[in-house]
Amino acid sequence: MCGIAGAYSENFIAGKYIYYALFSLQHRGQESAGIAFYSDGLRYKKQMGLVSEVFSKEDLIPAKYAIGHVRYSTTGLSRLENAQPFVVRSKIGNIAVAHNGNLVNHAELRRKLENEGSVFTSDSDSEIIAQMLSKILLIEGDYKECLQELNSKLIGSHSCVLLINDKIIAYRDPLGFRPLCVGEIEDGYIVCSESCAIDSLEGKFIRDLEPGEAVIIEDGELEFIKFAKSNRKAVCIFEYIYFARPDSIIDGINVYKARTEMGRILAEESPTNADFVSAVPDSGITAAIGYATRSGLPYMECLIKNRYVGRTFIMPKQELRELLVKLKVNVIKENAMNKRIVLVDDSIVRATTSKKIVEMLKRAGAKEVHVRVGSPPIIAPCYFGIDMKTRKELVASSHSVEEIKEIVGADSLCYLSLKGLLTALKKLGGKEFCTACLTGKYPVPVPGELTE
Ligand code: SF4
Repeated sequence: MCGIAGAYSENFIAGKYIYYALFSLQHRGQESAGIAFYSDGLRYKKQMGLVSEVFSKEDLIPAKYAIGHVRYSTTGLSRLENAQPFVVRSKIGNIAVAHNGNLVNHAELRRKLENEGSVFTSDSDSEIIAQMLSKILLIEGDYKECLQELNSKLIGSHSCVLLINDKIIAYRDPLGFRPLCVGEIEDGYIVCSESCAIDSLEGKFIRDLEPGEAVIIEDGELEFIKFAKSNRKAVCIFEYIYFARPDSIIDGINVYKARTEMGRILAEESPTNADFVSAVPDSGITAAIGYATRSGLPYMECLIKNRYVGRTFIMPKQELRELLVKLKVNVIKENAMNKRIVLVDDSIVRATTSKKIVEMLKRAGAKEVHVRVGSPPIIAPCYFGIDMKTRKELVASSHSVEEIKEIVGADSLCYLSLKGLLTALKKLGGKEFCTACLTGKYPVPVPGELTE
């Protein structure tokens, strides 16, 4: 998961637009941030850290075109060499790439490119896209053919924003794993991972790119191209469960509505006697409101989040994650004391957070804690850009629901069913999702795994 954006501005403030867009996309990655600008040549800045730590006012040089990236690592280590955008200098000019996703065949592609003489500066799969693009652009004249050729070689998820001299090309891979949408802003256009970034610029949402579709932004004009036909989609279902901001709309589905609907169905599937419904903040709140509405129980906060600590699941190291849980939430003891609580969380990955939180509530005097999870158990790794790489890290891959209940220390534990999850999204017009981490069946071939 990463956040990407590209902007065109008549008034040469594309860099500022990207800066604010990346702010809105910060929840998608907090390890590094970068912006590439084009104005009489390409310049860029990228560093480890949050958007607010990486850029100062002076860095936002006047430019008509800019693209940006916030990163959390999946392929490649968390270090500066892997920060994006990746820039390659080629015969056709400078190319900058901001990529959201993960290539399943990155090792094979890299070996092939190295055998052909390419030299890599990082171990990130996104640099492979930049290198391949620089070669393909030399041969294929037309961008549609170029994207067709590129996409015929890449397997996995790859929503990308490219800055090729004074042009922005943004595309979504043929299965549409990761979101990408287009908006109009005061003096130009913006493409970004989530619509919340368009809202933050007071822009007008135009539409989501379709899987296998690209948009070219050049000289203030937009051109949409369909470069790949696919008879199916595989939009990551976890965007709706956890990753995306609830104020975003992805492929026509309002994420907030999707989460409340999931909470409602969860309440129908797994009711319980309790005094009130509460949430693991922030990502469990929307599903908890849905649960409370459907169950008729009041909603009350009993955990307060320290907003200045990053999301725990997204932090790459286990020891950091454990420390952060303690720093991240605190209990309102008066609310928890002697109460039977339904505690709603969006998902359980390793169970680290859930266990600590149930412990904290019990220590604060809660009589019963009934954990309800707004997604089915995560049983299989994600190879498409989410940091769930091995079955070993996933508690549900080797434990039953009853065993997880014991690990977490809850009085009861129930997950939303896969049928319930799909019903919630279908009700809002959604269909054809990647559910591989919930089913173990992958939408593209992954060595050693089952394919749908
Ligand atoms: S495996 Fe899971 S997290 Fe990864 S893309 Fe598919 S649904 Fe999303």
